[in-house]
Amino acid sequence: MSAIRVVVAVGGNSLIRDSQHQSVQDQYAMAALTDDHIATLVQMGYEVAITHGNGPQVGFILRRSELAAHELHEIPLEVCGADTQGAIGYALQQNLCNDFRRLGIEKGVATVISQVEVDINDPAFLSPSKPIGWYMDEVTASRRQKEGWHVVQEGDKGWRRVVASPRPLRIIEAPVIRKLIDSGFVVIAVGGGGIPVVREQSGDVRGVEAVIDKDLASGLLATALDASLLVIATSVEKAALHFGTPKQQWIDTITLDEAKGYLAEGIHFGRGSMEPKIQAIVDFIEAGGTEGLITNAENLERAVSGETGTRITR
Ligand code: ADP
Ligand code: MG
Repeated sequence: MSAIRVVVAVGGNSLIRDSQHQSVQDQYAMAALTDDHIATLVQMGYEVAITHGNGPQVGFILRRSELAAHELHEIPLEVCGADTQGAIGYALQQNLCNDFRRLGIEKGVATVISQVEVDINDPAFLSPSKPIGWYMDEVTASRRQKEGWHVVQEGDKGWRRVVASPRPLRIIEAPVIRKLIDSGFVVIAVGGGGIPVVREQSGDVRGVEAVIDKDLASGLLATALDASLLVIATSVEKAALHFGTPKQQWIDTITLDEAKGYLAEGIHFGRGSMEPKIQAIVDFIEAGGTEGLITNAENLERAVSGETGTRITR
């Protein structure tokens, strides 16, 4: 019997407990907790690829870059993506290697810097909507706008930069990731949804200042790897219908068609939080995947064993 191949998407919030625990050491400790559960999955016989968010981490790099701008060059957004893939990959990779050694599992772990192709004609580029970095005052916002940034005012808090969040089309490193998984390695890839790149007329790719939703990119990875299961580990044990209202109802198992119906109703899942997770699972199953699961890291093992989480089936 061949092993069940699973993509586990780790939420950005699973790496930062709260605003009092944001240091590199704190994030490392959180990565260790998440990895303990992933190591158990590997012990249970699953073939695992790990993806992760990077929203807060990119924010920190941009802030540092901004504060140091009088002395040092600034860091472009796509390079922040690459930096966070390296740093978060390192924390996940080292902890997982340590887990494997303790558990007597002979498996290597590799982090792959991942580029994800998007379409330069994606309508998202016409109306950038994803806030990035710190709040600015009006003078800074107007200077940045002249430099080419899109900025929006967010109430009294000030101005923020917004960038496009185009749809992920293709993971450039998918064949490499696949080879590694086929060879028995655990792979950490597509961090932060991947570094967005566009293809030039010449056929070359180049990075663009945008961000890709990590849930949608994780679904794409699951498809590219012919995984049968996509698990999205986030801050809630289950997804709910009518979330945050008196009619709220936790979901156990729903079919693909039911999930599509709830998405279409547009009232159940938070925009930019739960909605892309449901959408990613729907896309994955429609592309041939077997099922998707939403739960928190603490419940990973119980959820794959069918004891909890929200499950979307064919
Ligand atoms: P991640 O970093 O894991 O992507 P998000 O904050 O983007 O985390 O998404 C998880 C959050 O989505 C939960 O903490 C919850 O507050 C929110 N959410 C929105 N809609 C729902 C829903 N229908 N059911 C459960 N949680 C929801
Ligand atoms: Mg999210």
